[in-house]
Amino acid sequence: MRRLPARAELPPATCKKLEKESKAIADAENPKDEAERRYGNARKAKWFKPVVDSLGAMSGVGQRCMLCSGSEASQVEHFRPKAIFPLEVMKWENFLWACSICNMNKGGRFPPETEPGERIINPLEEDVWSFFFIDEFGNLTARWRPDLNDVDPRAAKTIEILTLDRDALQETRQNRLDDLKARVQDSLELSRHGNLKQADLRSRYDEWRTQPFQPDVASYFLDGPGRLESPFAEFCAKAKC
Ligand SMILES: [Zn+2]
Repeated sequence: MRRLPARAELPPATCKKLEKESKAIADAENPKDEAERRYGNARKAKWFKPVVDSLGAMSGVGQRCMLCSGSEASQVEHFRPKAIFPLEVMKWENFLWACSICNMNKGGRFPPETEPGERIINPLEEDVWSFFFIDEFGNLTARWRPDLNDVDPRAAKTIEILTLDRDALQETRQNRLDDLKARVQDSLELSRHGNLKQADLRSRYDEWRTQPFQPDVASYFLDGPGRLESPFAEFCAKAKC
């Protein structure tokens, strides 16, 4: 997970169409079946394209999955699952852009409605870094809650359901972190010898922030609480970013 921009506005015609579809589902005798049918048709229809385009744009360069940041996203993920919330199937506020692994892992799981546990985290609605941190090995980890004397239960449930601790993700997160640290250290070294000016550091920083390779690591260490850690703190002070 990573910090994402605020949800974009859809073109008015697309909003209208989504509203119309939602109304038809609500009025149907069997809303669940009607939602499945209408959503299946919508995914193949031209009018739905602005939805997919907007989700892709909010995901940033490389359109990494909004949930794991690991793979290219290709599926509309219903935050509130289709099977349990048919009236939310055509709601823009319910759409995320996800990879097939995350979409499949989440499936119909949505505590507390579907199983005991806390609500999972929506990266488009909440500040993910108040729930998680990335450690020195690149592990995405639930934050400790002193008031509960335990890890944050929502973060822990989110990691469990989406398997955000899967080996492939941990590995690429660690690679990205090692790579980012090496670039930052190299830039600081060049700057110490007068070979890079503040503007050069700043342009490197901007470039790293838009690289699509495991962007959760960049989000945490360049834009999030990880900025306070070495060597990022020294870099950000010198680059004035
Ligand atoms: Zn994913």
